[in-house]
Amino acid sequence: MKIAVLAGDGIGPEIVAEGVKILKVVAERCDLDLTLTDARIGGAAYDATGHPLPPETLALCRDSDAILLGAVGGPKYDTIEPPDLRPERGALLPLRKHLGLFANLRPAILSPALAGASSLRADLVEKGLDLLVVRELTGGLYFGQPKSNDGTRAVDTCVYTVPEITRIAQVAFQAARKRGKRLCSVDKANVLETSRLWRATVHEVAKEYGDVEVTDMLVDNCAMQLVRDPRQFDVIVTENLFGDILSDEAAMLTGSLGMLPSASLGQGTFGLYEPCHGSAPDIAGRGIANPLATILSVAMLLRYSLQREDAAAAVEAAVAGALEQGLRTADIAAPGEPSVGTMAMGDAVAALLAPDDDLPRD
Ligand code: NAD
Repeated sequence: MKIAVLAGDGIGPEIVAEGVKILKVVAERCDLDLTLTDARIGGAAYDATGHPLPPETLALCRDSDAILLGAVGGPKYDTIEPPDLRPERGALLPLRKHLGLFANLRPAILSPALAGASSLRADLVEKGLDLLVVRELTGGLYFGQPKSNDGTRAVDTCVYTVPEITRIAQVAFQAARKRGKRLCSVDKANVLETSRLWRATVHEVAKEYGDVEVTDMLVDNCAMQLVRDPRQFDVIVTENLFGDILSDEAAMLTGSLGMLPSASLGQGTFGLYEPCHGSAPDIAGRGIANPLATILSVAMLLRYSLQREDAAAAVEAAVAGALEQGLRTADIAAPGEPSVGTMAMGDAVAALLAPDDDLPRD
């Protein structure tokens, strides 16, 4: 399997180095044949080539089975003209578009060891939290035409078609099948026509997944239930706008940006995997960034693109093990609690995946 490794900017190279370390250990442990190839993206690519997504990077991505991305951007690049050459606009968005990545998967995972970091009452999260939001990424209100704004009247249009809903529903059902086999489809079917089509189409797709229990929930109720009792959810699937809001709400229940992975999937098993956070220029180069969001993104890569649930579960168990041992990077340490650096956290996870003798040495 070919993996494109795009470290990017800021803390990107530091956290991706730990993700790659874990990929190498898990490849050995689970007998995976992986070819990892580095390429530039974002500000680093702009500095070297004059474009944040050089053609050779795009070509490598197209030729790969999966992409592991760090983060792009930073103050140095915020004012590049034209704006289409800025890292997020010129690299991330086109990359997702060129590769047809229509499904965004954002798990909100809170290990019991970190329950204190959540903004929710301890009794709601003391057993941890593990839910997945599947957001439709390329349709709905963000892309529908016509759009207009003449200064006195503005229009956005929400459009969904049966094929668009079917393909995201299939991703969600397949994800639910690999997890707790419960899918909650979120819409606003009491008001919106697109939601009525959404609901009918999800129920049509559900006929192919008899082993997955499907329920419907209105989006306003879902926003409330997420903070009332988040443990009731396994997988949530929803359209672009609702997913944008609910995935942020769910993510923040875990209280720590440095822990949150994501996957963006297209048709088939191809996917792009990256932490939810940005390039954290305020801590870049200091060796203190939390690599766990990237390492958990590696677990998602193993699960969704390589179809190796065993390897994905092993990585997630090793992350949980490192946290159980009390290891904390600065962002997740309680006040006064000692913390470890990026590399030490990566080493601890790697050591839990493989005996010391098996660790790859650079
Ligand atoms: P950010 O996520 O980079 O940082 C927000 C805060 O969280 C900072 O204090 C940072 O130090 C901390 N943080 C983030 N990741 C961390 C980690 N792994 N470990 C410890 N602490 C961590 O968001 P921002 O500061 O708004 O953006 C910085 C740059 O990143 C901007 O240029 C922005 O455009 C870009 N960005 C890129 C992506 C992406 O590549 N997908 C996403 C969001 C932002």
